[in-house]
Amino acid sequence: MPVMQHNDLDVYNRSVPHALPSVLYVGWIDQQGYPTGSVQTECLDRLKKLAVDPFRSIRGKVICRACLAAGLSERESIQPEGEIWIQRLNSAGFYAAPVAICHYIETHKYKPPKEFIDALKVGDRGRDKRRFADVIDDLLAGKNSP
Ligand SMILES: [Zn+2]
Repeated sequence: MPVMQHNDLDVYNRSVPHALPSVLYVGWIDQQGYPTGSVQTECLDRLKKLAVDPFRSIRGKVICRACLAAGLSERESIQPEGEIWIQRLNSAGFYAAPVAICHYIETHKYKPPKEFIDALKVGDRGRDKRRFADVIDDLLAGKNSP
């Protein structure tokens, strides 16, 4: 199973023709070296709601590297695929987080960047009614309005 890891706030380039400067990765942790701390239950709950119906649905599973590093088997380390997108504050872009970010926060105490938490608190504006493919088309075309 493919495991792709990215630093927080790196530019998004996953399965798109070219990188999308206004879309930033958040929460694609590896087994070590990620920031930890407490995250408000309210924020985690919001992420969990979004994870039920991911903005970018991808069939499949990913392996949680942090679980593997903690000694769990590959089977025990499986997390669902998919991406949650949160609209950025002060920008027309988005944060792209893996569905597994909920697991990373709950189980591994991962703490996302403050700007992501702040955007999350404002709400789920990133979940507009348009399809993922349409939003991606706009972003690739350099259109600013999400
Ligand atoms: Zn894990």
